Formats: sequence, C-alpha cells, structure tokens
Amino acid sequence: MPAPAALPPTPAPAVALPTPPEKPTIVEQAIKSGEPIPAKKLFAAEKLPSLGKAMAIGYYPRGCLQGGVALPVNGPTWQVMRISRNRMWGHPNLVRFLERFAPAAAKATGWHGILIGDMAQPRGGPLPFGHLSHQIGLDVDVWFMPMPSHTLSADEREKTSAINLVSADWKHINTKTWTPQHYDFIRVAAEQPGVERVLVNAAIKQEMCRMQGAKHPEWMDKVRPWYGHHDHIHVRLACPPDSPSCRKQPPVPESDGCGKALDYWFSDRVLHPKPKPPNPNAKPPKPITLADMPPACKTVLAAPDKPLTALQKND
Ligand SMILES: [Zn+2]
Repeated sequence: MPAPAALPPTPAPAVALPTPPEKPTIVEQAIKSGEPIPAKKLFAAEKLPSLGKAMAIGYYPRGCLQGGVALPVNGPTWQVMRISRNRMWGHPNLVRFLERFAPAAAKATGWHGILIGDMAQPRGGPLPFGHLSHQIGLDVDVWFMPMPSHTLSADEREKTSAINLVSADWKHINTKTWTPQHYDFIRVAAEQPGVERVLVNAAIKQEMCRMQGAKHPEWMDKVRPWYGHHDHIHVRLACPPDSPSCRKQPPVPESDGCGKALDYWFSDRVLHPKPKPPNPNAKPPKPITLADMPPACKTVLAAPDKPLTALQKND
C-alpha cells in the first residue's frame, strides 16, 4: 500500500481565535472570597512589583512593599546570588544603599566585590521560606565571601554556599575562615547612612570587640548579635521619610554591646537549647493571612504590575 500523503499544512486562521477567559489568580480569588489563604503564598505568587510610589508598609517582620525596585543582578562590584528566588527587590533606599556599600566594601577589603543574598520579594510580604523579616524592602543579607573575578553562572549562584566564620562550638570565630577583611566589611556596612542594624553571629561580634580593645567606635552600637548570621550579615535600614506607615524599630541600646552583654549569647540556653517535649494537643501555628497584615498590603497585592521599563528606576 502506498504511504498516505502527508497532510497539507493547516492554513493559519486569518483572525485570532478567541482565547478562553483567564483564570483568576490566587490573589484575585483570595481577595474576592476573603478566604484565609496564607499571606506568604499570595506574596510569593507575585512576580513583579506593584504600580505606585515606592513605600515600605508595616513592620520589618509584618508588612509589604509598594512600588519596589530591582537591584541589577550584576554590578561593577556586586553579584546577586540565588536569582531563582526572585528576592532582589527593595525600597529604592535599599538599592541605593547596596550601590554605595558594594564599592566601599570592595575598596576597604581589597575584594573584587560582594555577594548579595536575599532582599525582598517584588511586593515584599512574608516569605515562604528562609526569613521572618525581609518583608518591607529594607532588609538585605550580604555574604561573608569575596565576589569572584568572573561573572557567576546561574547555576553557580544557586549552588555556591557562603563561608561560615564561626568555630564548631559556636563560641569563637573560625581562625581558618575569619580574616581582618571581614572586620572592615562589617565596619563599612555599619558606617553607611541610613543603616540601623548590622546583625552578625555573637562570636563575630565578640571578635570585633576583642580587636578594638578597651574603647569601641560608635558604629559598633549598630553591630548586634543574632542567631545564625555566621555566613552573612543582615543589614537593616531605617524607615524612609516617604513611608509614613513604616513602623520604626526600637533604637539600639546605648551600648557597644561588648563584654557582659554578650554572655547571654554564649549561654547553654542559646547554644544548647533543650528540645520542648512534644504536646499532642498543641494546634499547629496559624499562618499569617492578609487580615493579619497592614490593610494597605491588600491594595499592594491587588495593584497592577509596574511597567517593565520602570523596574530599575530609583525613584
Ligand atoms: Zn536576613
């Protein structure tokens, strides 16, 4: 039997076929139904920032970001890591801070530049994993690691890990990984205008106190110990003047935070916390929903996307 002749190509329709109506997004559904969908799901679903003037809304661990801007993933003295997470967004003040800090840190350390971890999601809000804060576009993690001289591939940015500067017992710095350049890296961050906190592991703070001897410079007040932070600093900026509903955090205590103030962080309670006995009656924690967030965050979620041309504009 002869092979059937190939079918003639289907002619393209002269007019575009009608497309089915678009499915409402998870956000539209939630807003319409008032259903308690976890806010982290709603914010993670947004791939672009909202239209509107840049504004940090709410509190660092409970809020959102209007009119966010992106930090370019490659700068002269920085590269953004873990691009797949889409967390290179922030208030313009945060982007400006990084554009200032990166060359200053490179100069002070002799590094090629810095590696930038998480900032915020395009519209801020709670994150599905990784942090409690980073919600209003004023927090950023920067790795304790010099930027390599080459442009990292997308794969390298996902797979490279930051360097741990703390010893295995968590009581000292790791002399194999800690360098004097790390001291300057942290100092330059704390010296930048608008910076309220630079969070580091207590063992790192302790080493900086030790290096300074009896008298500590004023910027040391801003370098505060916190859990983790052995492989990155977390920089938190002050509420910007253009963001009236940004809630200020309490000022840092008027103290350099050296000496006795660090004892707590090396106590058994912190270093070897006792696991709590399981409670079979305990209810799982209720996820944060839109109703728990500042009302303006609903508007931010519902707002149209910012046009692509405006994504990196700093105003
Ligand atoms: Zn952080």
